[in-house]
Amino acid sequence: MFKSLRARIDQKYRTIPFPISDPVLPERYTGRPALSPEKCDRCSECVSVCPTGAIALRKKGITIDTARCIFCAECAEICPKDAIVFSREFRMGANEKAGLIENGAERKPISALNKKMLRTFGRSLKFRVVSAGGCNACEADINVLGTIGFDLDRFGISYAASPRHADGLIVTGPISMNMKEAVLKTYEAVPEPKIVIAVGACALSGGIYAGHAETCGGVDAILPVDLYIPGCPPHPMTILNALLELLDRIPRRNG
Ligand code: SF4
Ligand code: SF4
Repeated sequence: MFKSLRARIDQKYRTIPFPISDPVLPERYTGRPALSPEKCDRCSECVSVCPTGAIALRKKGITIDTARCIFCAECAEICPKDAIVFSREFRMGANEKAGLIENGAERKPISALNKKMLRTFGRSLKFRVVSAGGCNACEADINVLGTIGFDLDRFGISYAASPRHADGLIVTGPISMNMKEAVLKTYEAVPEPKIVIAVGACALSGGIYAGHAETCGGVDAILPVDLYIPGCPPHPMTILNALLELLDRIPRRNG
């Protein structure tokens, strides 16, 4: 007993100070793509290496659809003009799919829920997490938010064991056909009003499974989605920041 208390005292306070200060991200972190369309000479090398068809060549240069991007950084490596660089910006996500297309412009923050929803969920929000056919890396990063390092509960956000006790769903995976009915039934079991959050490339667009006959191609193929969080998997900080922007718990910041 004494030993455990001593160990706890020695560990000190271990929760990251975010949002008071920015988190320390690992050196190999690959964040939001920073594009310089004016540098692009339309050689299409990046398009040819992209495994998910996330890059489009436009008249005014390239765009990257972060709903599809798996952040492999192959495009940045092959681009001879340095038109694609992966920044250390972890703030990503959007209320609508169109907001996930990167074209070199500033990022708009996620819009907060309306006043009525904020009154209902702003201080206490419970999610049922549903894994619908992905590789489970997204769940790992969702679960890690519950640890002492991130302490999601300090914001009044937590995970519920039953959809009947939840205010919304967090869904990962491309919605495999054998999970479709389970996802729909889980959604129906959540009382109104409810929120749906899609996490990870699979849930946003089908990701690496896009076009496969045994998947639905993402959550919005079967449910209305309030928040899209990109990544493969998204860093826990990307998920946490997006949730706090949706709940209007952090200052609006462009990026
Ligand atoms: S980082 Fe994204 S856009 Fe670039 S090649 Fe990989 S999947 Fe395609
Ligand atoms: S988005 Fe990437 S990490 Fe998440 S489930 Fe799909 S393959 Fe796995």
